[in-house]
Formats: sequence, structure tokens, C-alpha cells
Amino acid sequence: MNNMKIIKEYVLEQKNLIKKTVEKYQINKKLVIIQSVSDGATNAYVKGKCKDCDEVGIAHEVIRLDESAHDIDYLVNLIKKLNIDETVGGIIVQLPLFDGWDVERVQNAIDPRLDIDGFHKLTKFLPATPRGMIDYLNDNDFSFTGKNAVVIGRSEIVGRPMAKILLDLNMNVTITHSKTTNSDLRHYLENADLVVIAIGKANFLDKTYKFKENAVILDVGISRIDGHLVGDCENDVQCYFKSPVPGGVGLLTRLGLLKNFIDAQME
Ligand code: NAD
Repeated sequence: MNNMKIIKEYVLEQKNLIKKTVEKYQINKKLVIIQSVSDGATNAYVKGKCKDCDEVGIAHEVIRLDESAHDIDYLVNLIKKLNIDETVGGIIVQLPLFDGWDVERVQNAIDPRLDIDGFHKLTKFLPATPRGMIDYLNDNDFSFTGKNAVVIGRSEIVGRPMAKILLDLNMNVTITHSKTTNSDLRHYLENADLVVIAIGKANFLDKTYKFKENAVILDVGISRIDGHLVGDCENDVQCYFKSPVPGGVGLLTRLGLLKNFIDAQME
């Protein structure tokens, strides 16, 4: 047993607060989601974001692109029009884009004040996944200062920003990646108070890894095995708390997006 809030319950509680904020400040601008690729996983992510908006009373619109009719210039022009549309309060360009489209060019076309994904080079928003995780840890009174964090994975959207935030919160941060030796990884993990893993390798951390009794593991990874969602770490490793997959960091990420949207309206 541990004292960490059950993520599903925490998210519900936070959504209720967001709903009250939307009502109180009469937030009526809409979130626009632009979708390129239309596979099962991407459709599910977009559907989830729309459902979240519905639950808290945020208006939303999904614009779907057609690869045979549209090119990247069309998308950049569309974003420029949305940037100056008074009814728009936030823009998400759902990844992945169509093959060969320059993601950075598209992300940097969004007005940074509307970039609630936090991907623009001048953004003031934290990317949604790190924001969701940090808010959750804060809500649980996690003590950061002087403690050891191991971040596994160095992607631009999770590993790197998370490591920087934890460093800013006075943690001793180790980033490990595909070139880290397994014996070093095991050594770092044995001393970690917080582990964030985001590599996309199903059950990479298993029961042969040893963790501190007080270790908190946030499992970002999502893989699909036989139709089931699986994290980067087995759900039943010995530690203080391990975020489940499903029902863990994915929910925190969606919450992070809603919070960024609300913050964007409070300028
Ligand atoms: P990515 O796929 O861009 O990069 C993977 C990273 O893992 C790289 O930095 C690579 O160096 C590292 N890596 C690969 N093998 C490794 C190994 N053996 N040991 C240590 N590091 C290794 O990463 P991403 O976009 O951060 O996504 C990672 C996973 O997290 C994916 O499963 C993705 O679907 C998931 N994800 C989930 C959420 C969520 O809301 N739950 C959000 C973003 C990403």
C-alpha cells in the first residue's frame, strides 16, 4: 500500500476543477485539433482529447487533412489562419504527420501562445506529458530536492524536457538511453527515488531490476501486445509506486493538455 493517489481518481478530481474554471471564467474559445494520419491509434488519441474537452465544457473542432489533396504549405497556411481567428484558444497538430512532412516547420508555425502541446521553440508551455507527471507528483507532495531521478529515454517530447524540469526542481538527474550499459542502468536504478521511463519497449524493466523501497516509477511507454496496452515496465515490480499502463501517464498527459489550454486563456 502507498499514499499516492490513484491516477484515475486524481484525474477525475482535477477535471472537475477545470470544469468549474471553464464555467467561472466563461471560457468559450475552442481547441482545434488538426489530424493528418488516420490510423487506429491516432484516431483513438484524437477521440480521447475531444472526450476530455466535452467533459470539462471546452469547445473543440477536428480538422482532418487528406494526403492526396493537401500538402505541407496548405497545413502551414491553415495554421496561420487559425492563429488569427479570435474563436480559437489553442491548436494541436496531432502527430504523426504524413510521411516526409517537416514536423518542426509545422510546429513552429503555431502562435506560441496557442501552442498547448508545448512543442514550439518559443513556447511557454511544458509539453503535456512532463506537465501531467510533475503536477501529479506535486499533488502527492513528492519531495524532489536532493533526491535521485533516473530518466530512461532522451526524446524531445518526454525524456529531455522531463530531465530538465527535474533538475530545475533540484533533483540529481541521470539520463540513460540506448547506449547506456545494462549494468550501469541497474546501478543507477538501485539508487533512484524517481524513475521515469519513456522508450516504447514493452516490459523493458522487469522483476530482475531492483528498486529502492520508496522508489516511484512513472511509466510513459505504450506498446500494444495482442491488442493490450503494455508499458515499458512490468506493473508488479517491487517499489513504492508504479503508474499503471493503461490508466497512468496517458491520463496525466491528457490532463496536462487541458491545463495548458486553460492557462492559454488566462493571458
Ligand atoms: P521516442 O520513441 O522518440 O524515443 C525513444 C527513446 O528511448 C530514445 O531517446 C532512445 O534513445 C531511448 N531508448 C531506446 N531504447 C532504449 C534502451 N534500451 N534503453 C534506454 N533508452 C532507450 O520516445 P517518446 O516519443 O518519448 O516515446 C516513448 C514511449 O512513450 C512510446 O511508447 C510512446 O508511445 C510513449 N508515449 C506515451 C505518452 C503518454 O501520454 N503515455 C506520451 C508520449 C509518448
